[in-house]
Amino acid sequence: MLSIVIPIYNEENLIDDLVNRTVSSLEAFITDYELIFVDDGSEDQSLQKLLNWQTQNNNIKVLSLSKNFGHQAAFTAGLEHASGEIVGMMDGDLQDPPELFGEMYLKLTTEDFDIIHGKRSGRKGKSSRNIYTFLFHLLFRNIAAIKNMENTGNFSMMKRQPLDALLRMKEKVRYLPGLRSVIGFRQGFVKFVRDERMEGDPKMNLSKLFALAADAIFAFSRFPIRMCLTLGIIGTVVFMCAGIYVLIAKMFGFALLGWSSTLLSIYFLGSIQLVSLGIVGEYVYRIYKESQNRPIYFVKKFYGGNPGKE
Ligand code: UDP
Ligand code: MG
Repeated sequence: MLSIVIPIYNEENLIDDLVNRTVSSLEAFITDYELIFVDDGSEDQSLQKLLNWQTQNNNIKVLSLSKNFGHQAAFTAGLEHASGEIVGMMDGDLQDPPELFGEMYLKLTTEDFDIIHGKRSGRKGKSSRNIYTFLFHLLFRNIAAIKNMENTGNFSMMKRQPLDALLRMKEKVRYLPGLRSVIGFRQGFVKFVRDERMEGDPKMNLSKLFALAADAIFAFSRFPIRMCLTLGIIGTVVFMCAGIYVLIAKMFGFALLGWSSTLLSIYFLGSIQLVSLGIVGEYVYRIYKESQNRPIYFVKKFYGGNPGKE
């Protein structure tokens, strides 16, 4: 069986198109499938609309979470409730074309891949978000300990074995595209051009996007903590040179009163220390979050789901 997981947060105007397009692209190549919509605490009519579809098509299941937990938590919830031997994931705003699932499935089953990523070969539309995403990927590519994931996102399909590996990573701060590339296995790509969102505003506002980028960077690279060390070393070298200059000046009697250089070095060192303290604070916060060990989502009800899985 094939499971497809789609998170939904306030997408009421999109749901009919989304269900129609996804169902028809799946039914073009498979009959045994389940479509798991994760309602991430929507405040609009999304849940009602999904439940309406669920009563008409019993391949559709709706996992309703108790409140809004965020995109990555919603995906995780859906993946944990999927029972397919092959599982796909896709955003619910039709930026990723569901028609590509057929090609992904074919590649997985005939070419001996374990994971297929949708790789964006371009994006339609121009917005500041595209620049933001571009910058994030540029930075991430250069500092993260993982490779080969430029221009991939959540849109993907994988076999049960890598999925179980993915779900064994219990960290609370989750960046799934990163985790997916940590587990290894044979990974391949299918190229596509990313559409603009069909309807409505992005549900990941800039601050959510920024938080996601920070999660990715802190979880998959040691760049921030290294930066503290580097700044410290640079500071030390600069001030050693300055120190030597000051001594020489003193010896040859051309020392100035020097309040500006004193103030500048205090400001400079003070700001390096504050930045470093902030970065260390981020790590402390993340360690604290992990050690609290809270579940990352709570389920209200799993409509159409297997008994025993809530
Ligand atoms: N989403 C979610 N919970 C949230 C925010 C978003 O389940 O807190 C869903 C949203 O409904 C959509 C997908 O995640 O199906 C991607 O969201 P969006 O298009 O806003 O993100 P972007 O394309 O900017 O990454
Ligand atoms: Mg989107």
